[in-house]
Amino acid sequence: RRRNEGIVINDEWPGYSLDLFSYPAHYSGDLDCVIVPHGVIMDRTERLARNIMDDLGDHDIVVLCVLKGGYQFCADLVDRIKVLSCNSNQTIPMRVHFIRLKSYLNDQSTEDLHIVGADDLSFLAGKNVLIVEGIVGTGKTMETLLKHVEAFRPKMIKVAGLLVKRVQNRSTCVPDFVGFEIPNRFVVGYALDYNEYFRDLNHICVISESGKKKYKI
Ligand code: 5GP
Repeated sequence: RRRNEGIVINDEWPGYSLDLFSYPAHYSGDLDCVIVPHGVIMDRTERLARNIMDDLGDHDIVVLCVLKGGYQFCADLVDRIKVLSCNSNQTIPMRVHFIRLKSYLNDQSTEDLHIVGADDLSFLAGKNVLIVEGIVGTGKTMETLLKHVEAFRPKMIKVAGLLVKRVQNRSTCVPDFVGFEIPNRFVVGYALDYNEYFRDLNHICVISESGKKKYKI
């Protein structure tokens, strides 16, 4: 896969103070900093939509949204592609489907990846598939998912990931379209959760130690 790291956020970057932005009061004390503000996510998504159009413009595509963490990125990305389809001389007919994965407990990846409701994907045969994922860590999840999807014999598979973490021993599996490359810290917000919390937060933030404790199960 083509190496494309997106906007690189360095390990030294301290993030923005939460006091500079608005966020739900019920999360005060639960977050360390804002690492990607909502507006920047939207601006980057707009550009990714154009890159995807340039790459896939002649094919119709099946968007495969990876739930739950990918729903917000997928919704906003599809939205931007729709805008381009209306306002440029390129259009992509899109269909949107959902697949649900679960592998994290607290902030630890568990070995067993569950594909929930991955019923019959045989409609993917011969189609151009765009997998849309919120965050890629080690890449193991994406690798498993790719194998699963490949078995249904699509014509082409491309992956869009909003965030890719800089981790050691990352699998070779890197998305074709990347929003941001971020430090290896546990992030939440913009549909990314910690035990189902923080999906109702617009910005992508680093969770604090007390936040982790508070929502631990
Ligand atoms: P993997 O390590 O296999 O790439 O990622 C495992 C799963 O955890 C994936 O579903 C990925 O979306 C999620 N994940 C990885 N890092 C983070 C993180 O920092 N925050 C959240 N909320 N999810 C993450």
